[in-house]
Amino acid sequence: MIAKHIQALHAYTPGEQPQIPGLIKLNTNENPYPPSPAVFEALRAFDATRLRLYPDPVCKALRGHIAEMHGCAIENVFAGNGSDEILALASRAFVEPHETIGFLDPSYSLYPVLAAIQNVRTRVVKLEDDFSWQVPATCHDAFFYLTNPNAPTSLRASREHVAAFCEKSTGIVLIDEAYADFADDHCMPLATAPENKNTIVMRTLSKSFSLAGLRFGYCVGPEPLIHALYKIKDSYNVDMLTATLALAALQDLPHMRANVAKIKATRGRLAATLRGRGFTLPDSQTNFLFARPPGGDAKKLLQHLRDKKILVRHFDLPATREHIRITIGTDAEADALLAALD
Ligand code: PMP
Repeated sequence: MIAKHIQALHAYTPGEQPQIPGLIKLNTNENPYPPSPAVFEALRAFDATRLRLYPDPVCKALRGHIAEMHGCAIENVFAGNGSDEILALASRAFVEPHETIGFLDPSYSLYPVLAAIQNVRTRVVKLEDDFSWQVPATCHDAFFYLTNPNAPTSLRASREHVAAFCEKSTGIVLIDEAYADFADDHCMPLATAPENKNTIVMRTLSKSFSLAGLRFGYCVGPEPLIHALYKIKDSYNVDMLTATLALAALQDLPHMRANVAKIKATRGRLAATLRGRGFTLPDSQTNFLFARPPGGDAKKLLQHLRDKKILVRHFDLPATREHIRITIGTDAEADALLAALD
């Protein structure tokens, strides 16, 4: 029989990937620019005969590079099949059946689904009306997903604020930094600090590195926590081609940074123009805008844009209902969006 909690499960709904010619796709926070030329070159040079063999189960070369990048040891780095895999593994490794998983509300809508799969209870830290959040007096969740910058709100809490939260927490905190490369600051030092016992920082190549299709994410944290993730992962969770291309991408940070700079420039222009047209939106620290149209009828706007072949994302929940989430694309895509709004 299918387990009762799986029968009752509302599965996660990923953003649509329709194959419609001419569609402007601003719904899943993908990067509009190609990955580094080094990735193309590594792909060309890849010898498919090697695929005969199993990949390195613990991704030594790639993790060694990541460890060097962040100034930590290889034992502090976990390599995952996209950061979603890491989120799922963490929900298995760090929570007992009677304990709780916490997260901000609203934040990434996968977290409650992962908790439901584990059949554990959840507890939320509600965002204020301005989408900021307070450090609670106590935090006793066994495990907490802390999205920073947050999605879909696009706002970042300061490193000090996040550090205060981690200090107050009796459990393990995973800081989901999927969008950190688009922000003014990040929390990696909290993960690499020698005294750190409970904080993990997670990154993905899906957004800033333009590699959502590749599926690579990683996290950095205390050795015992990383070791626990290694105990429960699939034997070969990162395939040989992914490990090769991810390494090529991570060895070309200037390319990623140049793409991020372009996206931030478009973000600034689009945000200012939308505000000029009566939209309200927080100052984005991500590659998307969380925008409330004048009057707040986001659903109607979503449909209007869809009719014009522009896809954006809408989350039909009380706290997010009046906003649309617009991924920052190219300048031309921003212009097409503005024209469609006219
Ligand atoms: N965390 C957040 C906050 C996200 O928005 C996403 C993208 N949907 C992910 C993690 C997962 O990214 P990926 O699995 O592509 O690394």
